[in-house]
This record gives sequence, structure tokens and C-alpha cells, in this order.
Amino acid sequence: MISEKLKEVEENIAKACEKAGRNREEVTLIAVSKTKPVEMLKEAYDLGIRDFGENKVQELVDKYEKLPKDIRWHMIGHLQRNKVKYIIDKVVLIHSVDSIELAKEISKQAVKHNITANILIEVNIAGEESKFGVQPQDAVSLAVEIISLPNIAVRGVMCIAPFVANCEENRKYFQNLCKLDVDISKKISNNTEVNIISMGMTNDYPVAVEEGSTMVRVGTGIFGERNYNI
Ligand SMILES: *Cc1c(COP(=O)(O)O)cnc(C)c1O
Repeated sequence: MISEKLKEVEENIAKACEKAGRNREEVTLIAVSKTKPVEMLKEAYDLGIRDFGENKVQELVDKYEKLPKDIRWHMIGHLQRNKVKYIIDKVVLIHSVDSIELAKEISKQAVKHNITANILIEVNIAGEESKFGVQPQDAVSLAVEIISLPNIAVRGVMCIAPFVANCEENRKYFQNLCKLDVDISKKISNNTEVNIISMGMTNDYPVAVEEGSTMVRVGTGIFGERNYNI
């Protein structure tokens, strides 16, 4: 069941890359496995998936312990400061940094573990009241503030575009996020590249890839609908 869905997602990504004149290798597919049982993740793993996205700390840690160690775990959900310590040494990338306070805690924990934490600035790209993320006009200054902290590297930007009936409506937001990434990388010439653009979900990832996404986060499109009542 997963294999057919995965194939379809792969085909759509390839098609979008071709349409935009991009290499397929420029885009990482993150399988968003939140709420899904470990067996399903194992199935995706056996089909070659190595990047998994989770939005809850406890769930990520549980799955981390049960699954192979070559998996690259992505923290994609809102992160509370007091929980950073549980995931700091388990994830390759934290996609959801939207405040200096959170960044400070990530930096502190990274120093403790003697690692560099890779993070993305989450931008509330459409200014939706219901969403986390820094306002677009504050993204550059937040990035500048963060890179003054030790052991933390700003690697790019992330957004959750609005849930729309026609994904074309999100094209402008994806373009705006890419522009913001350029603005940020101009401002922070540190030693790492600021080249990760995490955008596109089941509803809109082909458009996101056409507009320059380097990481799409696809849940439903791979694992099927989520049931939050179990
Ligand atoms: C759940 C989630 C996704 C995946 O959503 P789908 O619509 O199921 O593809 C992507 N990004 C974030 C931040 C999420 O929380």
C-alpha cells in the first residue's frame, strides 16, 4: 500500500523537477510519519526512505529508539524549550525555530553535547493567525541574532503554506519564502550554506518543487489519512 503511494509521490516530484529544469537530487523527500505506527515507518524504510519527519518530541524519541540508526530524523513541529534536550542529539535538522528564546535553548543544549545544531527559520509566510512562525519581515533579523549564538547553524527556511483547494494559490508564498532565503543568506555569511528551503506538503508539494523547494514534507500522500482519535 505504501509502495504505490510512494511511487506516485516520487513520480510527481520527478515531473515537477523536470518542468522546472531542476535535478531530482536537489529535492529531499521527508516522509512525515506522525501518528503512524512503527511498522509503517519500517515499511517505508525498506522501500528506501531514510528521512522521516515528526512533530512531537515523545513520539520522535520512541520511534528513534525502535528504528534503524541510519534514519535522518527531522523535527518539523512546534518545539517547546523544555523539550529541546530530549531531541538535540537525535535529529539532523530542526525545521521549526521561530524565536530567539528557542534558539538560545537549542544552542545551549548543542554546546552541552558538543555538536552543531542545524536549524531552519519557520516563517508564517501568509501571516495566518493560527500558525506558528516568525513574520516574514522579522525573519532576517531573527537569523542574524541566532548566528551570534554558539553551536547553532541557520541552514535555511521553512513554511507551512495555507490549506487551499487549489495549490496554485500557494505559488506566491513559495516564491516569497525563496526570496527570504536569499535575503537571509546575504546577511549571514557564516561558514555554512543557507540553502535549505523546506516547503510543500501533500496538498501542494509539486508547486513547491517547481518554485525551488529543497525539502518536501509529505505525510498523507505516503501513509494515508491520519486518525487522531486512536
Ligand atoms: C503534518 C505535517 C506535514 C505533512 O502534512 P500532509 O498534509 O499529511 O502531507 C508537513 N509539515 C508539517 C510541519 C506537518 O506538521
